[in-house]
Amino acid sequence: MADPADSIRERLRALREAYRAQMPEKVSQIEEVWSSLLKDSGERDDLDAVLRLVHTLAGSSASFGLKEVSAAARSLEEELKTAVEKGYDSRRVASLPVSALLEKLKEVCGGSCQDAEEATREAGETKFPGGTLEGGPPPERKTIFLVEDDPVLLESLSLQIGHFGYEVQGFSALAPAREEARRSFPAAIIMDMSFPEGVFAGAETVAAVQRGREERIPIIFISSRNDFTSHLQAARAGADAYFAKPVNVGVLIDKLDMITRKEVVEPYRILIVDDDADLASYHALILQEAGMTTFVVTDPLQVVSSLSRFNPDLILMDMYMPECGGQELATIIRWMDTYVSIPIVFLSAETNLSKQLSAMSTGGDDFLTKPIRPEHLIASVTMRAERMRIIRSFMDRDSLTGLLNHTKTKEQLEICLERVKRQKGRLAFAMVDIDRFKKVNDTYGHPVGDRVLLSLSRLFQQRLRKTDIIGRYGGEEFAVILNDIDAPGAAKVLDALRISFSGIRHHGEGGEFSVTFSCGIASFPGYGDPAQLSNAADKALYEAKNSGRNRVVIK
Ligand code: GH3
Ligand code: MG
Ligand code: MG
Repeated sequence: MADPADSIRERLRALREAYRAQMPEKVSQIEEVWSSLLKDSGERDDLDAVLRLVHTLAGSSASFGLKEVSAAARSLEEELKTAVEKGYDSRRVASLPVSALLEKLKEVCGGSCQDAEEATREAGETKFPGGTLEGGPPPERKTIFLVEDDPVLLESLSLQIGHFGYEVQGFSALAPAREEARRSFPAAIIMDMSFPEGVFAGAETVAAVQRGREERIPIIFISSRNDFTSHLQAARAGADAYFAKPVNVGVLIDKLDMITRKEVVEPYRILIVDDDADLASYHALILQEAGMTTFVVTDPLQVVSSLSRFNPDLILMDMYMPECGGQELATIIRWMDTYVSIPIVFLSAETNLSKQLSAMSTGGDDFLTKPIRPEHLIASVTMRAERMRIIRSFMDRDSLTGLLNHTKTKEQLEICLERVKRQKGRLAFAMVDIDRFKKVNDTYGHPVGDRVLLSLSRLFQQRLRKTDIIGRYGGEEFAVILNDIDAPGAAKVLDALRISFSGIRHHGEGGEFSVTFSCGIASFPGYGDPAQLSNAADKALYEAKNSGRNRVVIK
């Protein structure tokens, strides 16, 4: 298989070549404005224009590894800056050594591109964390080994864990479990501690299984022993958790979910604003190779409209652009309620610290100096995009279950409905309400009630498809948007969940108990708008309650 690093190296080289090819044109553009400036018609605006062109050239050539070009452009920029700061004066401008510097620039532009090749090599060696260079996502792993010599506990635990969408492979003896763990890779092993072979035989087996493995298997111990020595043995065997029997299945599943969770992070969406199209694509390419989705805008006036269309997690913004600068743009973006908190990272050749600080004061979150090393760009963008995702999830999600909150669920229903209408597809909307939940709270207390809510939300998350949207609609009421399915199909899915849920045994102080739910379903195209859909599902739910609860009704 081809090394993916080769492909990025190739693409970077192609970008650099294209950039180099345009260099003479960029220089002659500078020359043109400069000579018009020297004529009588020359104006202050022209001086600003030359400065901007030279500044851009200095920054972008450095990013493409053309150090000599960048150095020549940089010294020209310094001369021009001084002229601008002193105020426009045609005689002073005429006396600037610009022509000589331009000559130098032309000379190095035509020179060898050794330094660029070096930069290409460097970029090829760059490590792209978590990106495509490190291979695809890990394979689906949902099988749990349960090793327990008490056949009754083995069977009942297998059933319970099975309700939460795990495939349980049970073993009543150590040897076959050890053999099987050598051949396959379970998502986790739940291991009893004491076996006929010895009181700590479980820990010894786990240690043997882990030995020599490249990637360790997550381990949970369950044991009737709750003494320090047992805990210590488990810790030494590299356990992730230790539960004393009788095991609270809710807590066990919690742990299992946590240690087997595959971090499927939606790619971060980065809006890149830079009037230099080459440089924008260069930065886009680096971020894409790190697994991010990018959208490039070269016209600052288009930024506002791209925001709602692309919905970025972060904006990477050039500072100096014609028509509207990065700072002004940041100020305008911050005026919009929806984007008050979006991270804005300035990326500029500006090295003046006070100018950098002033840019940050208008709402920038960071200031990166061009040229930037790919790893540094990736790390800085990832960190801020990640934080943005967390802040957003707090706003959109219910704090107990992590499901979408009422507002967000309704919003999603509207969005999904619009889409299926366009695609002439199907969609079902299900409302779920726990039966006699008040009694659960009254009998076992509010915290136990919370655990029941959590177990239902987990069951939904585990068993529904990725394309289905699950929300906590109210206290003990949930809503599910099932895409691409009709009402009878959705009823079948929800009915299977209903049966699974009723099979879960919850633990309270007064002992074990089980809970059921009722569900009402309505679907598109039967009901054509969000209000009609949710009214119909609500009616169906009411019917399910009135006709005896613990059932699914279609409207
Ligand atoms: P029905 O079968 O008719 O739905 O009966 P019910 O008892 O489930 O319905 P009711 O609407 O009378 O009671 C809902 C209860 O849900 C009342 C409320 O205390 C409880 N509840 C709402 N939100 C939460 C929560 O976040 N945690 C806990 N533990 N209980 C909650
Ligand atoms: Mg209820
Ligand atoms: Mg209710």
